[in-house]
Amino acid sequence: MILLKKNNNFQTLNAWNVGLRLSDPKLRRKTRQIFIGRVPVGGGAPIAVQSMTKTDTRDVSSTVDQILLLQKAGCEIVRVAVPDRKAAEKLGEIKKRIGIPLVADIHFDYRLALEAIEQGVDGLRLNPGNISHKDHITRVAKAAQERRIPIRIGVNAGSLEKTILRKYGHPSADALVESALSHVRLLEDQGFDLIKISLKASDPLSTISAYQKISRLTDYPLHIGITEAGPPFSGGIKSAVGLGILLYQGIGDTIRVSLTGDPTMEVKAAYHILGALGLRHRGAEIISCPLCGRSEINLEPVVREVEKRLADWTVPIHVAIMGCCVNGPGEAREADVGIAAGKGVALLFRKGEIIRKVKEKEMIPALIEEAEAIRKIMKKENSCAIPKRSSKPIKRTRQTLKPLAIN
Ligand code: SF4
Repeated sequence: MILLKKNNNFQTLNAWNVGLRLSDPKLRRKTRQIFIGRVPVGGGAPIAVQSMTKTDTRDVSSTVDQILLLQKAGCEIVRVAVPDRKAAEKLGEIKKRIGIPLVADIHFDYRLALEAIEQGVDGLRLNPGNISHKDHITRVAKAAQERRIPIRIGVNAGSLEKTILRKYGHPSADALVESALSHVRLLEDQGFDLIKISLKASDPLSTISAYQKISRLTDYPLHIGITEAGPPFSGGIKSAVGLGILLYQGIGDTIRVSLTGDPTMEVKAAYHILGALGLRHRGAEIISCPLCGRSEINLEPVVREVEKRLADWTVPIHVAIMGCCVNGPGEAREADVGIAAGKGVALLFRKGEIIRKVKEKEMIPALIEEAEAIRKIMKKENSCAIPKRSSKPIKRTRQTLKPLAIN
């Protein structure tokens, strides 16, 4: 029996099976809640977005600069690699200069974990099975417990234990799950349960299967991601497929999209995945048509420019940019602000109503001006929820997209 949370009430779905589609991705698998700094993970909390720096952690300035950019992009938890003692000793200085929780990513060396805890990190990523002496695991678990610092057990298909690889032949979903549970037991044996788990493979199908399996076996919160997904375009798609399926099934308490390139792209991609599922919204969502033989205007530069101008917005706003009168007015009406463009002219919509006709060269400033007005209202209302569409009935007008006589 698995419990799912809906509208702050836990709902029991006896026949729930993670292999079956759920009708509402807002139904989440019930997990325990931990805190990474002030950010709750699991237990019905919003799915936290995280990323990892790509700088040398020993270089404090570059690392802090990158974290501040991630923070601005909406990253809520950041992880840094801690390859040696020098890097570990810089963690306190980095933490002092940033505004989001800091997680230290450590492999093999328990002394780095102890130093990271001493430096005041908010979380550790550490696989205790990779620490050779039981005493050392005890020391790390005790120090983390004293400061209530959670540990993420992060199993990765590329670094599975030899014994498990021998047993399964390759890093299958079962192999990932067995590895993760063996690490979990090592911490539980120390009385430590501030645990989060990830099981990542670079292909979505193995990753999905592994998370589905472990979600039936434990209620620790799950950090989901497709590891080494690739460059932004293909890696973003791979992540959207893998993570989208898991999230749709109610699995996943925090998300990291792993891309080769600018880490702020990871954060943007994560919000797009969450936004597409209606789980969280941040910033502008642009609905734009692909254009076809009916369009009488080249909208591509318009979309690019609007996207650029709204890139730093944090309020959730839907902006439609459409290329003709077939689907254009319908989509533009449904958005918070939209245009349906014809030859040399566009209809400008705001909250379902036509505001006015604008000439082609006025499209971008007019759209931004209307979006800005909505943003001001949203900010005033201190809205961070899903934007409300106009409750007024849609006002139909006789205006059409016939070109204006532009003199
Ligand atoms: S909205 Fe119009 S121009 Fe755009 S793809 Fe659809 S039919 Fe073509």
